[in-house]
Amino acid sequence: MYDLAIVGGGPSGLAAGLYGARAHLKTLVIEQGLPGGQMQNTLEIENYPGFKHILGPDLSEQMYQQALDLGVEWKTGTVTAIELEGNPKILTIGSETIEAKAVIIGTGAQPKYLNVPGEKELAGRGVSYCATCDGAFYADKDVFVIGGGDSAVEEGLFLTRHARTVTIIHRRDELRAQPILQERAFANPKIKFVWNTVVEKIEGDHKVTGVLTRNVKDDSTAVLNGDGVFIYIGFYPNTSFLAGSVILNKEGYIETAADMSTKVPGVFAAGDVRTTPLRQIVSAASDGAIAAMTAYQYIESL
Ligand code: NAP
Repeated sequence: MYDLAIVGGGPSGLAAGLYGARAHLKTLVIEQGLPGGQMQNTLEIENYPGFKHILGPDLSEQMYQQALDLGVEWKTGTVTAIELEGNPKILTIGSETIEAKAVIIGTGAQPKYLNVPGEKELAGRGVSYCATCDGAFYADKDVFVIGGGDSAVEEGLFLTRHARTVTIIHRRDELRAQPILQERAFANPKIKFVWNTVVEKIEGDHKVTGVLTRNVKDDSTAVLNGDGVFIYIGFYPNTSFLAGSVILNKEGYIETAADMSTKVPGVFAAGDVRTTPLRQIVSAASDGAIAAMTAYQYIESL
């Protein structure tokens, strides 16, 4: 029996683990991939306090080692179901079950797909959801970025390190991205914008050769030639194992109070998986710390 089981080993889960272990809770983190979550796919991080520049995998490793050194137990596996009501909470991981007095869910979010012809067929052959992972393959090539939010603009800026041109295709004539990113993108001579336009098809047989676009104002279509398509149209929460649960909102995110508690006693959430105005490493880590301390108080009260 664990005091605290944490589902997800990204910054929220690792911070929760660290705080749980320091509060002398018997703490387990369960993660299906590598420690660090989305940080593993981030090349350079320059907005986590204390580190002017750090590579995502390095920050992941440091957070992971720190949690282990403080006594957190780590388990690799996929949680497929949790019995949230009652005490203890029962987590299913394959054929195994684990019991814990309290659970923190920090499973994060995943990229959304465009769902257009060619996207699935050409995934890994020019279609990518991770500029920091694949950008280096596009040295002196022409690439497209789809979307107008922080991710699209930030990753578009990153791609200018490698690519000859970066064309950001956005469905409106105004970006959603924060002003500092917009200013950098508008000032970058390698970045071009195609406004009021959606991608209807990704062209290419064995590798991407371009995109078929449609202007949403005048309905005109065009084929734009290029070698890569980076899709950044948002994320959806990793909560399929909680389908139908009362803790989810209609978009599938977990609703929490300011102390990270959910509607179900003993169940907490932290990071990108919850409804939050900011999805950053620093905010995920902060959520994790708050969730662990609220879980500690809950466990003490049992
Ligand atoms: P986002 O903010 O939801 O932006 C998604 C973008 O894709 C929007 O511009 C949206 O257009 C467009 N879009 C959505 N569905 C589309 C579709 N089917 N076809 C074409 N375009 C579509 O997602 P995000 O940029 O991934 O950011 C997610 C969260 O992480 C945000 O809270 C963001 O602030 C945060 N983030 C922060 C940073 C940073 O601070 N450095 C970096 C990355 C992400 P509309 O604008 O028309 O809706």
